[in-house]
Amino acid sequence: MTDRYAVIGNPISHSKSPLIHTLFAQQTGQDMSYEAIESPLDGFAATIQRLRDEGYLGCNVTVPFKFEAYKLCNRLGNRARDAKAVNTLVFRDGEILGTNTDGAGLLADIEKNLGIKLMWKDALLLGAGGAAAGVVWPLFNAGAGVDIANRTIEKAQLLADEFKGSGTVYARRYEELAGRKYDLVINATSSGLSGELPPLPDGLFKPGALAYDMMYGRETPFMAYARKQGAEIVSDGLGMLVEQAADAFYLWRNVRPDTQPVLDLLRK
Ligand code: NDP
Repeated sequence: MTDRYAVIGNPISHSKSPLIHTLFAQQTGQDMSYEAIESPLDGFAATIQRLRDEGYLGCNVTVPFKFEAYKLCNRLGNRARDAKAVNTLVFRDGEILGTNTDGAGLLADIEKNLGIKLMWKDALLLGAGGAAAGVVWPLFNAGAGVDIANRTIEKAQLLADEFKGSGTVYARRYEELAGRKYDLVINATSSGLSGELPPLPDGLFKPGALAYDMMYGRETPFMAYARKQGAEIVSDGLGMLVEQAADAFYLWRNVRPDTQPVLDLLRK
């Protein structure tokens, strides 16, 4: 019988994950299916239960359910424990196992695909939701200093509090960003979904800076802002999406797909 997987989110119709996993499965000869399932906002746990009852082997979790997924897990990997957010679930032996592949996906895209080393770089992370939570520890571990700016400052503060005393991770209000400069600005807000731009000042980018929007599939207001402001490299989040998917695929199938041909095909 074909093994079944899915991605759960709300909204979900825009997701490229089904295509990516189908391409990985073809490339590695795996007999599996992968579909996008929209869960009601107040029905995530019930959706997961239904999938388990129907014999699915695992799923990805996206906006806005990553924190809820974390709470549902019986066992967590270190990356999920650090992030307190989960994007990959495995249903095995009656248990829900959770991990977070977002951080590894972002790092692989920045360091391997875009060729930018993070050690000693100053990074600004916009947002403090599930996606941001998944990447703070990996950015810190890669040697970057990280400022976290978020509309709701308390959420940014909660993320930064875990690094108290390290001297490298701070929460900042948007109004505090004027006059600061960064090697890397990562938009991990969902502002692009509504065609909005977080309230960013002029002059944020150091020479040679990278502007990275985790959204993909469209030119976002953040990407347009970054081009105008002179960021040297402006990237969407498609590479991160493919790399985090490859990590999830490896966990489920024990085979590591080659990401470059899939990324090339999606870029076309
Ligand atoms: P969440 O819903 O958990 O968090 C949303 C975040 O965006 C919050 O910090 C929220 O601020 C902020 N936000 C929303 N609208 C605005 C706005 N208009 N101005 C400023 N801030 C805003 O979502 P996720 O963290 O899970 O996902 C965020 C984005 O990252 C999504 O677009 C998602 O598609 C993308 N993503 C891409 C991935 C990839 O592989 N490329 C992987 C994961 C996510 P507040 O707290 O104040 O509400």
